[in-house]
Amino acid sequence: MAVVGIDLGTTNSVVATVNGGEVVVIPDAQGRRLHPSVVSFAADGTKTYSHEAVARRIVDPAYTVYSAKRLIGQPFRADEVKMAASRFPYRVEEGNNEQAVFVGPDRAYTIPEISGLMLAYLKQCAEGFLNEAVTGAVITVPANFNDAQRRATMDAGRIAGLDVMRVLNEPTAAALAYGAGQNMSQRIAVYDFGGGTFDVTILQVEGEVFEVLATGGDTFLGGDDADTMLLNVLAELFMTQHKIDPRQDPSSRARLLLAAEQIKRHLSDRTEAKGELKNIGVGPQGEPLNLRFQIDRTLFEQSISTLVARTLRTCDEVLSAAALLPSQVDEVIMVGGSTRIPLVRAEVQRHFGRAPRIDLNPDEVVSTGAAIQANNLAGGAGASETAVLLDVTPRALGIAVAGGFAEPIVDRNVQVPVEQTRIFSTSADNQTVVRIQVCQGESRRFSENTPLGELELSDLPPARRGEVKIEVTFRIDTNGILRVRARDPNSGLGKEAAVNIRGQMSDSEVDAAAAKIDATAVEPAPRL
Ligand code: AMP
Repeated sequence: MAVVGIDLGTTNSVVATVNGGEVVVIPDAQGRRLHPSVVSFAADGTKTYSHEAVARRIVDPAYTVYSAKRLIGQPFRADEVKMAASRFPYRVEEGNNEQAVFVGPDRAYTIPEISGLMLAYLKQCAEGFLNEAVTGAVITVPANFNDAQRRATMDAGRIAGLDVMRVLNEPTAAALAYGAGQNMSQRIAVYDFGGGTFDVTILQVEGEVFEVLATGGDTFLGGDDADTMLLNVLAELFMTQHKIDPRQDPSSRARLLLAAEQIKRHLSDRTEAKGELKNIGVGPQGEPLNLRFQIDRTLFEQSISTLVARTLRTCDEVLSAAALLPSQVDEVIMVGGSTRIPLVRAEVQRHFGRAPRIDLNPDEVVSTGAAIQANNLAGGAGASETAVLLDVTPRALGIAVAGGFAEPIVDRNVQVPVEQTRIFSTSADNQTVVRIQVCQGESRRFSENTPLGELELSDLPPARRGEVKIEVTFRIDTNGILRVRARDPNSGLGKEAAVNIRGQMSDSEVDAAAAKIDATAVEPAPRL
């Protein structure tokens, strides 16, 4: 039996394990180590995964799901879900308990089910490669994932038939890959610039203790934005050549965007890209319109300079939350595909006054750390049993109080596990029931934060307002999962519960989905 570490990414996933004391990144049957997080559904219930599914994004866009991570753990009505869903060619609707569900050709699938299918595929890849059963996994999540997103990721693991040993923050995993067993004393920054998001985390590594000092990021800043910037450059060129704006036509825009991503990658290795893109648009007489282009790296760099500057501003914010200057960081670890852009490396070097570490593969470093932690938790060969990971809350957590305000109970950047209690009182005479609405965010106004769910405390003794006290305790475990306890300190009467999260699958739904996946999901098995 084996355990694995899984970087379940928005664009790509990576699965790794520790074998004989060494980390091994697990390839698919074709030897590919990056597995696109894409699942395609056929009407007869069969599914296609990863690279094979990517090909289906063109021929069967309505039933090919990508970027599920943008939706996971969020209620259907969340702004981010609405925005993402409006851009996806597949249909996302509202299901039970305000969940976002994908409308498949045979039935509706919840988002943890989709991610569960992807995890089941990765589990099978690993089992085929290792020739043994994979039972447990450490799955990584962005440091800023909230309670609901972490729970939904754990549900996805359960659906895939995995014992989720831990959900681990991606930057902490990267730090572990860098520092585990090295007996170092360093302050490091993990600069993670992926396809859709950017985040930065500062950690203090002392031997086997990995302590997060501060973390922060931008969930709408990534390589996708660089593609859009380059798309605009290409569109301007097209307009000078044909007097037509190709961005007005969805199909022309899609082709140009695909080309922009390829040109961007090309410019990471070379200083110039030139050529002709065929059939980008259609002329007035129905003739195909091509685009001749010649773009040098400098032009590309100018077009993305504001994006890179934004990442550095976020670095400064996070550094100042840790009361540090860039020069006080000993090492910068680069994570995510967009850190391959030379301008990104150069600007990070200029900002921190030292060259970032690029010897760790930016695509694999997170899964490597997850595999190390899975091996540690399972007590496997070469496990550093003493590794202690001290993560922090990415955002403040609080509750709604009278007047539309939010009262924080646990602040941002507080080390977990943590338990904190605050005393509140009733706001109306003879109030016997209080609804405790939980939110995440730093705003004083409740409505400006992300609502997470609620808990009800009833049977309070009738009394004048303010006389009945309610003690609210937030407990956050090492997975970043929140439990809330509310009780009347006089009577001792209380309730402890996982908050009823909007947009979440119930336990029985998760069990039913897990049972279904055993029978049908990963058939036919990927070739290994
Ligand atoms: P990730 O989310 O870490 O998988 O990163 C995916 C992003 O990295 C996408 O926006 C890719 O276009 C980008 N990317 C991957 N390879 C390169 C490269 N060689 N140069 C520039 N960007 C890249």
